[in-house]
Amino acid sequence: MRLAGHKTKIVCTIGPASRTELVIKKLIKSGMNVARLNLSHGTLEHHREDIRRIRSLAAQLERAVTILIDLPGPKIRIGKLQNEPLELRRGDNVTLTAQDILGTTSRIPVNYPQLPQSVAKGSLIYLNDGLLQLRVHEVSGDEVRCKVIIGGPLLSHKGLNLPRARILRDPITEKDLDLVDFGLKEEVDTFGTSFVEKADDIRKVKEFARKRGKSIYVVAKIERAEAARNIDEILDTADAIMIARGDLGVQIPIEEVPGVQKKLIHKANLLGRPVITATQMLESMTENIRPTRAEVTDVANAILDGTDAVMLSEETAIGKYPVETVKMMARIAASIERQRRAVRWSSDLEQYFRDGVGQKKVSAEDVISLNVIEAVRALNVRLILTPTHTGSTPRRISRFKPDCWILSFSNYEPAYRFLALSYGVCPFLVKNEGDGWPDRIMKLIKDLRLAKKGERVILTAGTAPGQLGEADSLRIVTVS
Ligand code: PGA
Ligand code: MN
Repeated sequence: MRLAGHKTKIVCTIGPASRTELVIKKLIKSGMNVARLNLSHGTLEHHREDIRRIRSLAAQLERAVTILIDLPGPKIRIGKLQNEPLELRRGDNVTLTAQDILGTTSRIPVNYPQLPQSVAKGSLIYLNDGLLQLRVHEVSGDEVRCKVIIGGPLLSHKGLNLPRARILRDPITEKDLDLVDFGLKEEVDTFGTSFVEKADDIRKVKEFARKRGKSIYVVAKIERAEAARNIDEILDTADAIMIARGDLGVQIPIEEVPGVQKKLIHKANLLGRPVITATQMLESMTENIRPTRAEVTDVANAILDGTDAVMLSEETAIGKYPVETVKMMARIAASIERQRRAVRWSSDLEQYFRDGVGQKKVSAEDVISLNVIEAVRALNVRLILTPTHTGSTPRRISRFKPDCWILSFSNYEPAYRFLALSYGVCPFLVKNEGDGWPDRIMKLIKDLRLAKKGERVILTAGTAPGQLGEADSLRIVTVS
C-alpha cells in the first residue's frame, strides 16, 4: 500500500461538476478524503445516489472516504427570481418580502418571515456573500424597503446576511432534523451544522440521533460572531469544527477573519478536535486551471496554522476543473508539510540571536536591538526613538515586530525615505545641528504631541558626539 503524499485532509463538496462516477473516482485518487454533500442544494434523491456512489467507489478503490452531510441551518436566502440574473443598480429601491412571489427588481422574496423584526431603519443587508449590499430605509408591516448601496447581478436562492442582527430562528430547524433522519438512514459518517451559536445547538442534534439509537459525529460550522465567542463550549461538545469563512466573512467584519481563523485553529488543536478551514481556498480555479498566488499561500498558511483539513466548495461542486483543483490542493499540502518544522523563522527570530545561532555575525547594534525589545516588554512603552544615519538601527529593531512605534530620526534623506518600507517605523528627517540631538528629539516629539508628560520612552544612542550615528547604548527616558 502506498501512503498519500499529503497529510492534510481534503474536503470536496460534491455537486453537478463532480457527481459522476468518473469524476468521483478521480477525486478519490487525487486526494479527496472527505466528500461533503451540501443539503442546501440539490434533491434528496440526488444526495442518496451520491452517497451510494461514493461509498461503492471508495470501497472499490480501498480508500477511507468520510461522507459529511452539511445541514442548511437557518440560512436566510432569497427566493426564486423571475429573470436571471436580476440586475440591481445602486440607488434602486427594492422591497424584501416573505410573500411567496417571483422576484423582480422591485420586490424580492426572502425565506425569513421575521426579517422585519431583525432589522431596523439603517440596517445593512448583504446579498450573495456581501457582493451586493442594501440599506433598510423603512420597515413597514411584513415588508422591508431598502435602497441598493452596492448593486450587481443576483441569482435565485442566493444567501442573505444580516451582520450583527439577531437571527430569530432556532439554529437547528425542523428541516435540519428531517435531514439528520435522512443521513441516519443512509448511514453517513458525520453531520455539519450551519449557523450554530452555542453548545446546546450541537447537543440538540446529538440528542435527536441518540433517541433513534445512534451516536453521531457533529462538525460545528463556525460562521457567526456568537459561535466564535462561544467557541470553548462548542469545542467541548462538537466532534470537529469548520471555519466557515464564507458566512463568517459577512457576519463579522471581513478583516477579522484571519485572526479568528488562527484563534479557532489553535483552540481546536489544544483539545485535539479536527478543524476544517473552508471557503474560497482555491476559488479562482472554479474558472481557471491555475490558482492565484494568494490562494496557494492561503492554503499553505492554513496548514501552517495547524488546520487538519482544507475544503473546496464551488471549486469541486460546480467548477470547470474539480480534479485539477484537488490535485493542486494535494501538491500545495505536500510541499508545505515538508517545510513545517523549518518555517518557524519569524517567531524564533529573537531566539535565533539569543541562542547564538547567528552569533558570529552579531554586532553591537544587534545586541542593542534585542535590549530594546526586552525593555519595551518590561516597561510597556509606546515609543522607541532611534537617531540613525543609515537606518540600520531602526531596521534591526523593526525586524522583531514590536507592538510599539519606532520613530527614526535621520539627517540623510535616502535613508529616511527607505525607512518608509520597514514595519512599525515612522521616519523623521532632521537637520544635523551638532550636539544636543537627544534633547532636540525629545522636544520634537513633545511638540508633535506624540508623547505625554511623565511617559517613559526608549531612546537609543550612539556615542560619537554630534552624530546621528548607529546605536551603542539605550536610555530609558521619562518625558518631562
Ligand atoms: P456554506 O458553509 O458553504 O454551507 O455556506 C461554508 C461557509 O459559510 O464558509
Ligand atoms: Mn455558510
